[in-house]
Amino acid sequence: MGYDERRAQFHEAFLDMVEFFKTSEHVTAVTNQADVVIRCYELLRIGKLCVHIRNHTSVNGPLGEYSTIVAYDSGKEDTERVIQKEKFYQDEKLACYTIYQIEGQEDWTEDELRDIDMLVHVNFLFNSRSRLVVLMERARYLDKDFEIPNIQQFMQDVNKFVDQERISEYGTCRFNVKNLKYINAQIGFLMGTSVLKKYITNIQDFLGENGTVYRVGGDNFIVMYKQELFEQLRDMLLEHDMITGVAMLPEIKIGSRAGYYFPMDIDTADTVIRNTNECGLLAKQLKYEDYMIYNEGQRVKQRRMQEIVKDANRGFINEEFIVYYQPKMNSKNNRLIGAEALCRWMREGQMVSPDRFIPVLEQSNDICKLDFYMLEHVCRDLRRWIDTGFEVVRISVNFSRVNLTNADFTKKVIEIIDRYKVPHEYIAVELTETAIDVSFETLAKVVNSLNEAGVCTSVDDFGIGYSSLNIIRDLPWKVLKLDRSFLPLPDDKEYEQKKIMLSHMISMVQALGLQCIAEGAEVKEQIDLLAECGCYFIQGYYYDKPLPKEEFEKRLSLGDD
Ligand code: C2E
Ligand code: CA
Ligand code: CA
Repeated sequence: MGYDERRAQFHEAFLDMVEFFKTSEHVTAVTNQADVVIRCYELLRIGKLCVHIRNHTSVNGPLGEYSTIVAYDSGKEDTERVIQKEKFYQDEKLACYTIYQIEGQEDWTEDELRDIDMLVHVNFLFNSRSRLVVLMERARYLDKDFEIPNIQQFMQDVNKFVDQERISEYGTCRFNVKNLKYINAQIGFLMGTSVLKKYITNIQDFLGENGTVYRVGGDNFIVMYKQELFEQLRDMLLEHDMITGVAMLPEIKIGSRAGYYFPMDIDTADTVIRNTNECGLLAKQLKYEDYMIYNEGQRVKQRRMQEIVKDANRGFINEEFIVYYQPKMNSKNNRLIGAEALCRWMREGQMVSPDRFIPVLEQSNDICKLDFYMLEHVCRDLRRWIDTGFEVVRISVNFSRVNLTNADFTKKVIEIIDRYKVPHEYIAVELTETAIDVSFETLAKVVNSLNEAGVCTSVDDFGIGYSSLNIIRDLPWKVLKLDRSFLPLPDDKEYEQKKIMLSHMISMVQALGLQCIAEGAEVKEQIDLLAECGCYFIQGYYYDKPLPKEEFEKRLSLGDD
């Protein structure tokens, strides 16, 4: 761009500024601004004042949000020298301008200098302010750790595309990066973060202009992308090897659990945002797959789950959860040896079975609340039975593994038992062996501390989990409950094999010094088979279904005579 052209542009910008100062509320505090600008403009027009602008194209508004005055003084300059000087100033990308007198021209008078001073001053204030506004605006939409757009920006972009009626050109996806805990454990949190950044950068590089990655927080992200990229994006988010650029761990397996939503023309921005989030959260719970695509069925399921969580809160307050007791028997003498406390929910007058609500509550800490609620009610019942003179038996209470991450778990259990002054041996803590989300160390700490406190510990559903053998060998469990699937019915096609497995399993458990209980015996033949294998402790429909407290109490008095 030639000098004259630039000069012409500046004239225009200058006139804009005159207009701006006349109307803007920002500068009314400074008197006579418009007059000052007009007077300066007059100096410019007659050639007593000269301005050089760099990067004028990036200048917005009157002299621009990013423009900055780099120099002005009464020393006279020629334009070439100004250009040379500007090179030493600041960021190349910023627009800047220099106000100067042309060599050979008459000096600025005191008044003129004051006007120019004022012009620069006001412009400086205005620029600083608008730059601050821009920075603050940007911060609102930027994740400061990753320097990528945040969820606010996502919501804004969705709104924009809905307004432009282009939302159905895009797909949205919310994903959670898997195994970050392990990566962090291996190379530390800082390096872990830089690996995560690399992963996200790779995705953004792949999307280019056709999509954006937004950070929700932690290791949760959202992508909005052109729909035709769906398959490639999906594959990219699945587990793969990635070069990390980190010396300690040059290559890792990394991948995400992702939920995909495909917005429709009729969707409002709210629908798109809500469904994207919902399906991302659903995907996080997937066990066998790493991605899912949102559909109506899921929406209904999700709603039901939300209702359960909401109603459960009321359920705790109104004591809608009720303890049922399923007897455990000794088949040699048909005597009661214990019972398992099982939860029932009287929800709006209807009894709901635990399979309907336990898995939902297990998604959050609500399950812990329920388990301790059950323990407390069991202790309360035991106290009453003891006070009434019943000969009580040990009651086992189910504790979801979610509890184990709570460092105070054992303390809390003991605290409740002691509050009701129940001897510790009357309580057993039943933990399932199926979940794999706690470490051996965590589990060991809990089992050992309960054991030391004289509370019985029991492995539930043994045989269908993963960690089976070493967790029973290395931890001081007292009781082991065999899962029902090991106990064949007489017409079972694999009866003989199952019988062999069952008898070996029972021998092994007993040889390790644990008490073995069989669960789910429904018919006499199963009782006999168990006896043949040396197992006499049995819980099952053959004896009783889980019983309401009053019914179970009757068994206690029977056990007394
Ligand atoms: P679980 O701990 O394995 O409990 C045994 C389940 O097997 C009970 O189902 C019981 O009614 C059932 N059962 C017992 N004998 C037989 C039989 O002979 N045949 C058949 N078909 N079933 C039998 P329920 O009460 O429906 O409980 C289901 C699951 O819900 C429990 O499985 C347990 O995992 C969970 N649960 C129940 N109450 C609680 C609780 O208070 N806290 C936690 N965390 N989980 C609970
Ligand atoms: Ca159980
Ligand atoms: Ca069980």
